[in-house]
Amino acid sequence: MPYPDTYYRRTIADDSQRSSLAETLECDTVIIGGGLAGLTTALQLSRAGLPVVLLEAEKVGYGASGRNGGFVSPGFATGEDAIVRAAGVENARTIHRLSIEGVDFIRDTIRDLDITAAAPQPGLMSVLRHNDADSLKTHAEHMRREYGYDLEYLDRDAVRSVLKSQRYFQALRDGKAFHMHPLNYLRALATEIERLGGRIFENSAAVSCSLDGPEKIVRTARGQIKARRVVLTTGGYTGPLVGRLKRSFLPIATYVMLTEEAPDLIREAIATTDAIGDNRRAGDYYRLVEGGRRILWGGRITTRAASPAALAKELRREMTGTYPQLSGLKTELPWSGLMSYARHLMPQIGETQPGVWHCTAFGGHGLNTTAMGGKLIAEAILGQSDRYTLFKPFGLAWAGGLAGLATAQLTYWTLQAQDWWRERAI
Ligand SMILES: Cc1cc2nc3c(=O)[nH]c(=O)nc-3n(C[C@H](O)[C@H](O)[C@H](O)COP(=O)(O)OP(=O)(O)OC[C@H]3O[C@@H](n4cnc5c(N)ncnc54)[C@H](O)[C@@H]3O)c2cc1C
Repeated sequence: MPYPDTYYRRTIADDSQRSSLAETLECDTVIIGGGLAGLTTALQLSRAGLPVVLLEAEKVGYGASGRNGGFVSPGFATGEDAIVRAAGVENARTIHRLSIEGVDFIRDTIRDLDITAAAPQPGLMSVLRHNDADSLKTHAEHMRREYGYDLEYLDRDAVRSVLKSQRYFQALRDGKAFHMHPLNYLRALATEIERLGGRIFENSAAVSCSLDGPEKIVRTARGQIKARRVVLTTGGYTGPLVGRLKRSFLPIATYVMLTEEAPDLIREAIATTDAIGDNRRAGDYYRLVEGGRRILWGGRITTRAASPAALAKELRREMTGTYPQLSGLKTELPWSGLMSYARHLMPQIGETQPGVWHCTAFGGHGLNTTAMGGKLIAEAILGQSDRYTLFKPFGLAWAGGLAGLATAQLTYWTLQAQDWWRERAI
């Protein structure tokens, strides 16, 4: 199936096709799912010389990895307090450092492979929509003390000098975070994996598998792979292949829109190349693309797939509510994608059963964490480290099925309502 129509597909550097699997192959490790988790795992194993085959149901980057906001920053889909409660203080610190390592991995890989089409642009501003300078200063101090990680505090005037909105107050700027073209990044990873000898098949959904013996067999419609190990990296697009995995997280949809081209108008509102995220628990995130000619604006989640066009109206309302001067700016293209969320909101990284690994549930904070997850799984397979065991507190617990989805939607609406009250309490 071709890529859905997104800004990334429209600006893709290379749209070559790969063949689908139509034979029996043997390899050391078969990876199922060609998003960032699967490709990073495959890249790291290929770099170590292990023969790998990656199966992708559609095209490499067809899922969330090829259609997201492109923000690459440290952290997870849940906050530090929750991680401390589950993993303890020391392990939580190590886990946060791993999330920084994920950011570094992507930056270094872009540099080492010279992926110019990923167009990395440094800078991420996390902006408050209510007045609370102290909380930001305290957080910046915590990050400096615990991780040696610098965040620049911006007061209200500094923020409003670049973001011309009455809605914004103070911000923290992360100069090491960046934003990029994710689809071009991961297609370059695929090219590198193949250069190193790995095999990648598109239009090759794994439809059944035998995972119990020492030899694992994964079947597609017209072929099969025999391997010592299997890695499951199917994200929010996971089907019934391995029931335990599917039951352990919820697919959640989220939305992005691209505006029409209007550089002069956009400059009147947003005068920075930084990516922007407001820090509501259900907030907006956006960035300028094409050298400031358009805005790529994301936000909202739903537990049932809604029409991207309908959701784009809500995103547009957010955009013009924040920047009334953009009320004439039209939406050109909306799209959506599926993320996977576990109950604990943390990635699930581990060994499902002997020789079978899972690396999934990265939620809405998946660029740095998929890179980290792929690295950890590869290290484990190569016998280089057992760092993946840090994620043991975040196992494959049942996510609650339909009731879980209803709870997730209710939780989201509650968070939205809390954000609303907080902003009005200024
Ligand atoms: C709209 C949107 C905006 C986002 N913005 C950001 C952001 O700005 N920053 C950030 O950090 N995170 C963001 N995220 C989250 C991030 O994109 C994801 O967490 C991450 O890409 C997940 O990667 P993955 O490899 O686990 O899954 P995916 O990228 O979804 O890949 C899974 C792949 O598995 C394939 N597959 C499924 N079943 C099979 C099968 N049986 N056989 C073979 N292949 C199969 C699918 O086709 C798919 O290509 C966003 C997500 C969305 C949807």
